[in-house]
Amino acid sequence: MARIGFVGLGNMGGPMARNLLKAGHEVAAFDIVPAALDRAVEAGARRAGSAAEAARGAEFVITMLPAGRHVREAWLGEGGMAAASAPDAVLVDCSTIDVATAREVAAASGRAMLDAPVSGGVMGAEAGTLTFMVGGPGEAFARAEPILRAMGRTVVHCGGPGAGQAAKICNNMMLAATMAVTCEAFVLAEKLGLSHQALFEVASKSSGQSWALTTYCPVPGPVPGSPANRDYRPGFAAALMAKDLGLAEEAARSVGVETPVGAKALELYRRFVEQGGGEADFSGIIRMLRKE
Ligand code: NAD
Repeated sequence: MARIGFVGLGNMGGPMARNLLKAGHEVAAFDIVPAALDRAVEAGARRAGSAAEAARGAEFVITMLPAGRHVREAWLGEGGMAAASAPDAVLVDCSTIDVATAREVAAASGRAMLDAPVSGGVMGAEAGTLTFMVGGPGEAFARAEPILRAMGRTVVHCGGPGAGQAAKICNNMMLAATMAVTCEAFVLAEKLGLSHQALFEVASKSSGQSWALTTYCPVPGPVPGSPANRDYRPGFAAALMAKDLGLAEEAARSVGVETPVGAKALELYRRFVEQGGGEADFSGIIRMLRKE
């Protein structure tokens, strides 16, 4: 069993650290919010007094933090985790952050470092069924894979540093645009007098088919398990989708690629968040499109 340092015990990191403990690993945990750290300690983690202390002596050091600036500061800032970690430790950042910061932190860490953002949300983190998209050296990936498997079901090595973040934002850009246009189609169908069920039955067997339609249908009824049946809560928060679309736009700009549909999806999701929809599932954007 491995010695693991885990920093960032929020909605995602808390249950991820618990799954590592359940798998029998030793976890030294830290979060700046005492209540989050207390929960991890109750689950069996050792309380670390700082991020650097959590990193010290660990074979694997994992972060699950909000954004790029937190990741840079935690790893490279004063009393940073990279310098405190053992020279042969594998560092793993599971946060969703911009590709440029992921590459910069990996290069400056002086250690074998992986970017390993996840999809699957809080439910996936709790159930240990997350998908990990991993960028970084193959040897570090091979060492970290069994650890990631204690928290997820699918673990994919996507390429070198930043490739995990690239995979995450490309996937979510496709998802956001597909969801937005699926919502538009249902709103148009409503106005044309076509029932939700009829559109679903035709499109789910035709070329309009997608995960957004058949697994995550944005209207109640056709897919009983989708968030639309629970008033769009809980689910994948629209605010997080807007964040990921912002990262995709930033990445596209940095490499001179035009993503006009992605940019439109970002504009729509930002507007939905501004109108108070940030905590709703991202399929709830249908309400804004209906002008509810
Ligand atoms: P969260 O805000 O619930 O948790 C972040 C935690 O980091 C908090 O407990 C915070 O106190 C802690 N933290 C911040 N700065 C710190 C520091 N310097 N040292 C120690 N702890 C610090 O966020 P979350 O929902 O757990 O998301 C974490 C990451 O995962 C984000 O990048 C998010 O985009 C990504 N993500 C979230 C979801 C989701 O459904 N929530 C899904 C996929 C990916």
